[in-house]
Amino acid sequence: MTDYGPEDAAVDLAEREAELRRKLARLTAPVEEGSTIGFGKRIGDGTIQAIQQMEDAGSAQVIADTLDEVLRAQARLADGTWGRCEVCGIAIDPDRLEFRPWSTTCIDHADAPR
Ligand SMILES: [Zn+2]
Repeated sequence: MTDYGPEDAAVDLAEREAELRRKLARLTAPVEEGSTIGFGKRIGDGTIQAIQQMEDAGSAQVIADTLDEVLRAQARLADGTWGRCEVCGIAIDPDRLEFRPWSTTCIDHADAPR
């Protein structure tokens, strides 16, 4: 039985938040003026770059969504509702919380629409 409490979650969530913000900043950083990267003269270069940008945009969205969940979990920690299912209100399995401290539902409601 794992004893995973709000104090553990606060630490994990803070670390996770910092990590996600770093990744997001890197992905959304504007291309520097005068950068020699990109705008390759060969067609292949531009294609690869375009694909890379699409992938970055996709993962940036995923990261932003996860960051949103982390921030909501921190708000729930603050108001004392962390660790309880948003749907039915029962205590969420500590193993689940340790794996995903930003979980907002019990396992039964994991697939419920938000
Ligand atoms: Zn539930």
